[in-house]
This record gives sequence, C-alpha cells and structure tokens, in this order.
Amino acid sequence: MPPVEPAPAPGTGGRPVSLYQDRLFIGGEFTAAAAGGAVEVRSPHDGTLLAEVAEAREADVDRAVDAAVAAFGGWAATPAADRGRLLLRLADAIEDDAEELARLESVDTGHPLRDTATLDVPRTAATFRYFGGMADKHQGSVPPVEPGFLNYVTREPVGVVGQIVPWNFPVMFASWKLGPALAAGNTVVMKPSELAPLSTLRICELMADAGVPPGVVNVVPGYGHTAGARIVEHPDVAKVSFTGSTATGRLVAAAAAGTLKRVHLELGGKGANAVFADADLPAAVAGAAFAAFHNQGQACIAGSRLLLHEAIADEFVERFIDLASSIKVGDPLAPGTELGPLTSPEHRDRVLSYVKIAVDEGGEILTGGRAPDDPDLARGCYVEPTVVRAEPGDRVCREEVFGPLVTVSTFADDDEAIGLINDAEYGLGGGLWTSDLARAHRVAAAFRTGMVWINSYKRVNPGSPFGGVGRSGYGREMGFEAMREYTEAKSVWVNVDARIPPWYPR
Ligand code: NAD
Repeated sequence: MPPVEPAPAPGTGGRPVSLYQDRLFIGGEFTAAAAGGAVEVRSPHDGTLLAEVAEAREADVDRAVDAAVAAFGGWAATPAADRGRLLLRLADAIEDDAEELARLESVDTGHPLRDTATLDVPRTAATFRYFGGMADKHQGSVPPVEPGFLNYVTREPVGVVGQIVPWNFPVMFASWKLGPALAAGNTVVMKPSELAPLSTLRICELMADAGVPPGVVNVVPGYGHTAGARIVEHPDVAKVSFTGSTATGRLVAAAAAGTLKRVHLELGGKGANAVFADADLPAAVAGAAFAAFHNQGQACIAGSRLLLHEAIADEFVERFIDLASSIKVGDPLAPGTELGPLTSPEHRDRVLSYVKIAVDEGGEILTGGRAPDDPDLARGCYVEPTVVRAEPGDRVCREEVFGPLVTVSTFADDDEAIGLINDAEYGLGGGLWTSDLARAHRVAAAFRTGMVWINSYKRVNPGSPFGGVGRSGYGREMGFEAMREYTEAKSVWVNVDARIPPWYPR
C-alpha cells in the first residue's frame, strides 16, 4: 500500500504539516536535538501549528561547532572559484525552488506572498549569486613599502563564524550572512529565530543538494538565551555576526568580550523620512507608505518617523491617510494582500501597547490603532496600518515599535528638519524627498546613519553596504565591506635585498 500523505492543515499554504523540515542541520545531516525538545512554530495568520522544530540547546551547538571546526581546513583550502561555483549553484537552486520558498516564508512570517515572491526570494538568490561571483575576485594587496622589501597582504578567512538571525526577513538574511562568509572560506553555525526557522532549514536542503560539503554550514534553531548564548560564548567560534534588537546586541557584545571574538552587530532603527515642501507629493506619499508598512513595518530600516514640512503637511497627511486606510490587510497567501499579520501574538500586543502609550502622551491616532474588524482575521496577529500625530520627544517617536505604526511631526526649515532627523539614538537608515538637488545632497550628508535614500526608501542591493551607526550597531553586510568583515588581513614581509643588515652594522 502506498504511504498515506498527511492532510494539509488550514493556514499552511496547502502543505502537510509533517512535510516541513523540522530538524537541526549538523555536519551535513538533518538530526534530532540531543535533549529531544522542540519549539512549536505557528502560523501568524490563524495560529495553526506549522511544525514542531527540534530545539537546539548547548550540547547541539557544541556538536555544530565541532562540525564547523572539522570542515574549516578543507573549505578554506578549496579554490575560491570552486567555493564560488557552489554558491552560484545554490542561487540557481533557490530560483528553481522560488515558489515553494516564497510560500514557506509567507506562511511562517506572515509577510505577504506578493513581497516574498517578488522581493525576498529573488534577492536571496541574487545575494548568493553576487557572493558566488565575488569569491575569486576579493583579493589582497601589495602596499608600497621601503626599497629592499616586498610586503603583500592576504585576506584570510576568520574561522568558524556564528550567525544569529531575527524573524523578520529570515531567508534574505540567511543569504546576507552566509554569502560573504562562505565566499571568504569560513564555516558557519547559524541560529535562525525560534519564531521563523522554516525557510532557513529549506535552504539547508538546497545547500546539501547543491553539494556544499558537510559541516560547512550548520543550522541550529533554538532559543536565544540557550543556543544563541552558547554560540556567542563558544571558544572555537572566532566571530559572531548578530542581527536583532539593540537590547540583545548589548548582551551579545558583552558575552563575546569573554573570548575576545570579533562581533558584527546589525541592530534596531527608528528611520526618519523627511518630506520637503518641494517634493513630488504623490511619489513621497507612496514611498512613505512603503517605508512604514512594508512587511507590516517589521523592518529595522522602516521609515517609522515621518517628518513633514509645515507647508505641505496637511495635504500630505490627507493623502497618506487615504492610502494607509485603503491598504489591503489579510491572509499573506491571498494574491491581493498588501499587509499581513505581525509575527506573533506577543509582538502584536507589544505594538498595540504603543498605541496606548502614544495616546497617553497626547498623540492623536489619525487612522488605525487597533486589530481589524474582519472576522476572518480574528485568530491572527493583525494590526491596522496606523498613523499617529505625535511630538518628536514622545516615546512613540523615539522607541522602535517594529510594527505598522508611523508617527507624523512637522518642521519649519532645513535646519529644524536635520535636527529632528538626528534626534535619535539609532542610526540605521532614513530618507528624504525633495526636487532640489542641492538640498538633497546637503541633507543626505547631514544624516547620522549608515544609509540614506533620496526620493526613494528601503532600496537594498548585494553590492551596496548595509548597516548602521550609534545604537544601530557596527559592521556592514553586503558588498566588499562584507568580505572585509569575514576576513583577516595577513601582512607578509619579504626581504628581497640581502645587503640590508638584519642587525646594526658591525
Ligand atoms: P531579538 O534580539 O529578540 O532576537 C534576534 C536573535 O537573537 C534571535 O535569533 C534570538 O533567538 C537571538 N537571541 C536572543 N537572545 C540572545 C542571547 N542572549 N544571545 C544570543 N542570541 C540571542 O530580535 P527579534 O525580535 O528577533 O528581531 C527584531 C529586532 O531585530 C528589531 O530590533 C530590529 O530592528 C532588529 N533588526 C535589525 C536589522 C539590521 O540589519 N540592523 C535587521 C532586522 C532586524
């Protein structure tokens, strides 16, 4: 008798629950957790159980690090072109699997399929392809030194790298971190978020099929305070690349100090998006909506602080509210959905608590501010697109809400705009809208952030450095910057003139 296929559960995108990959990936094999525990992964759309994913604890991390240590010598010695070829093959496999991966990401995170299919998954393939091409082009240098000596500098892989990832763009972040680390010859232990590990495990399946050798990448889903903390403190992990909240980033930096490992931190944000009086208003309104509401506002670079020149503020707000209140909220798998659920009930409650905080501080809710009425969405983690008029000093303008909530404040001139833009502890990204070229460059130069978008917002590309300053962390993903993050410079001195005395002349 043929095996009976398990029935698809509702809210799972039609995929039978038991067919999600739900084990750890260590030494090239899918394996159970040593202690046998599991983390329930639920659909943010309706709470359905998607999978019970093996929960890595300290012993599993140790096993993963051992596998990465064992694989390091062979991988680092693999010709760079061959490492690159494997990443290119993986990029092809991701494109072949794009439909499946996009559905998986949407089901697990709540991010609408129209985005995961057109942005997240294509960008994931593009990033692996970019770093596949980079592998044999990232090179050392020959600095001009004094006559009689040759000095050359090679870029060596760092070793075993620990990578810790949040839940908001898991598949894309896997490529941002794995791409440069592998191209440079490192081996990896990656911990996806306990809330959204499924697409990363799917990438492991594709990697194994593409021929990435066992142990080069190990994936250990589990909780931060156990699996994550063990990665950070493990003496054989040479570097940690962490993306997540500023609060956790502080813990990671402090814990990494114990073994003096290198740390790269991609942390929170509170992006300003400033609209000047001479801006193309329809474009700025649409761009501000993308900046604030894309992925339900769960983006570190979200444009969550709208700053409007007072001359256009009323007209802008009217148009913006029209657009925000017409956004189609719903099942992330439905073709027309523009805004899906937040990632978890706890996170939804946290976002809604900021609505109360805003009102208590005297803010005015211009639209949204609650869960939608639609009974079909009642079991999900939904919050309406929310626009709040607030004063720049209010908590809602200073703290990262990480949801579909944007504040609106006004400014009178460029100097006041620049003051407000930089009145933040964070320094990740921000945008400005103007038709005046000189103003565009002047204001962009004044942003204390790692990224600025002029007459656009949230553009990312594998070739362009991504990262922040201040409480948004340090280090950069993408481009040549990322290759530097994952390599150490080794300076080699060669005496090429035997007449140069090695000691004082006698
Ligand atoms: P989080 O800090 O709670 O968790 C991030 C990751 O760290 C998860 O995998 C978690 O399990 C792990 N973790 C938790 N405690 C840990 C510990 N003590 N040691 C090691 N690992 C630990 O963040 P989150 O809620 O998953 O994600 C949202 C946050 O991430 C937001 O603040 C957002 O701005 C930030 N983020 C930043 C970027 C960026 O590139 N700058 C990108 C996306 C998200």
